Amino acid sequence: MYFTDAHEELRLHIHRFLEKEVKPHLEEWEETTFPDSIFRRFGELGFLGLRYPPEYGGQGGDYFSAVVLSEEMAKIGSGGLGMAVAVQAEMATPPVFKFGTEEQKRKWLLPAIRGEQIASLAISEPDAGSDVAGITTTARRDGDHYVVNGRKTFITNGARCSWALVVTKTDRERGHKGYNLLVIEKGTPGFEVSRTLKKLGMHSSDTAELTFDGCRVPVANLIGEEGEGFKNLMWELQGERMIAAAGAIAGAQRVFEYTAEYARNRQAFGQPISQFQVIKHKLVDMGTKVAAVQAFVYQTAKQWDQGEYPVREISQAKLLATQVACEVADEAIQILGGHGYMQEFPVERAWRDARLARIGAGTDEIMKEIIAKTYGL
Ligand SMILES: Cc1cc2nc3c(=O)[nH]c(=O)nc-3n(C[C@H](O)[C@H](O)[C@H](O)COP(=O)(O)OP(=O)(O)OC[C@H]3O[C@@H](n4cnc5c(N)ncnc54)[C@H](O)[C@@H]3O)c2cc1C
Repeated sequence: MYFTDAHEELRLHIHRFLEKEVKPHLEEWEETTFPDSIFRRFGELGFLGLRYPPEYGGQGGDYFSAVVLSEEMAKIGSGGLGMAVAVQAEMATPPVFKFGTEEQKRKWLLPAIRGEQIASLAISEPDAGSDVAGITTTARRDGDHYVVNGRKTFITNGARCSWALVVTKTDRERGHKGYNLLVIEKGTPGFEVSRTLKKLGMHSSDTAELTFDGCRVPVANLIGEEGEGFKNLMWELQGERMIAAAGAIAGAQRVFEYTAEYARNRQAFGQPISQFQVIKHKLVDMGTKVAAVQAFVYQTAKQWDQGEYPVREISQAKLLATQVACEVADEAIQILGGHGYMQEFPVERAWRDARLARIGAGTDEIMKEIIAKTYGL
């Protein structure tokens, strides 16, 4: 219903590349994080610009090309790498494409699509995550520059990025009209990676805290109209949640399939454990939830692809897909027993990696607040 022959060809192309050039290194990258060169390789193959127009080096595909990439990334079982690629292609660069000038697209979008530059998106701060309006990173206008001061935290690709798209507050008095999105390049005096952070899962990716201390950023780095930053960020967040939902449910499908196969083969008391009704029913619940949420995710992705702005459905898809992914990973560990708890079995990492998705891109609770508003509650 959603995928054409061209999508299936793309899927095969991505699958072959991941099997050959990525999967053999995943265990090592869990320890060391992946090398920057992987972005260049993804760029060479066109995977960082699947739905950007050819004039910027993109492949000119539709939204389902991005869904295909996120599904194939989910299937290899490295949440960290999948997240880093999604930040590059579906979070940090879309605002540059949608709101940036021609010159800005040539300077930052094109090299990011080629994988020559690595991008990050810096919204969260030590004292403001869910409450985006509560950020305190300021950008004071001084002639042809903004002077940026503040701290951002939990930033994916933050340690390795060539530039960060940074959410700043310019004017406290103007409410939602007082925010701006600025591209701040690594190497700009005053922009430091203050530390990298250790975390529960997503070990192959880097997560950093960034500091801006009197950092002078040219006004030419403002993405979108002055004062439109908050509105433009809300648009970005829809895309971020949509791709998070697609990746999460594809990951859940993979874990379900693996677990069903394991249960068919694992013997206890003289029979496969899949023959115990309690295990069989657990698997049925897992498969049923994944199938239902998958259908809803695809339907919502179609709306997004067609240019609609389905805030309720995207929030619902993100909420449900990430919850189901966590539930499925948790049940998988139960079904695998002690093996499920061991690093040499894939559900252990899936469980750790999946947990982030209920927090990042807006928590469960924030999704429910947004959905409630759309019901007039
Ligand atoms: C590994 C990782 C990678 C990340 N990558 C990035 C990135 O690249 N860029 C970036 O900008 N951010 C990133 N984040 C940050 C992420 O988006 C935030 O953690 C998330 O938005 C939640 O913010 P917080 O952690 O400050 O939690 P808080 O906002 O402090 O929330 C704490 C708790 O309070 C609840 N809560 C808050 N407000 C409400 C409310 N109104 N109603 C009900 N409950 C509420 C929350 O749901 C949560 O349960 C990343 C986080 C992690 C862990």
